[in-house]
Amino acid sequence: MTNKVSAPGQTPTPITWTIAARQTPPAVTGSHVGVLALQGDFLEHAIVLRQLGVSAPEVRKAEALEALDGLIIPGGESTTMAILMDTWGLRDAICRRVRQGMAVWGSCAGMILIASSLREDRPKPLGLMNIRVARNAFGRQVDSFEADLQVAALGERPFHAVFIRAPLILEVGEGVEVLARLEDGTPVAARQGKLLATAFHPELTDDFRFHRYFVDIAKGAR
Ligand code: GLN
Repeated sequence: MTNKVSAPGQTPTPITWTIAARQTPPAVTGSHVGVLALQGDFLEHAIVLRQLGVSAPEVRKAEALEALDGLIIPGGESTTMAILMDTWGLRDAICRRVRQGMAVWGSCAGMILIASSLREDRPKPLGLMNIRVARNAFGRQVDSFEADLQVAALGERPFHAVFIRAPLILEVGEGVEVLARLEDGTPVAARQGKLLATAFHPELTDDFRFHRYFVDIAKGAR
């Protein structure tokens, strides 16, 4: 079922993250998953990870990538994030760490950034995952929507997905498994080895299954 976000033009009410943000992170459970913290909703991802017992360092410098098994590139504005990544030398560093086995999850703007090609001229993506992506594919901010998705990899219970000026996957190449589609068949989540892409924002709901799934990928457990 698909329905509109209740307050047009505004992001949906996130989980009670203002309270959660002030909690002391629990002990690290042995998986090192960080969040790229240049722009966008990195804090919401970090809070979910910390609730799962992952320390979730905020990554702003290339050196911080060395210790990571996984990196989340969050939603936000992909052009801005690409400029900041280039300014801080993170583009090459992320690509190098992926070649060494680091997992990456690109969510929304993050999915745009990890794609191999885009419908649009900007930004220049990292070219990590064998997908072609279209930005702002469902219209403007007011056309944001929510949908319940069947995601077999996460179990039977549908995943309530929040799409905010979201991209979509136009084409998937070799090695890419589509994890979820809209009712019309449009792919909106995919995986290629240790790379995960979602067009929507799991960090804005209280369903942590995608975060758990990614932590397992980073650990090499899936
Ligand atoms: N429309 C944004 C972009 O092109 C992505 C939106 C989002 O991350 N919620 O970068």
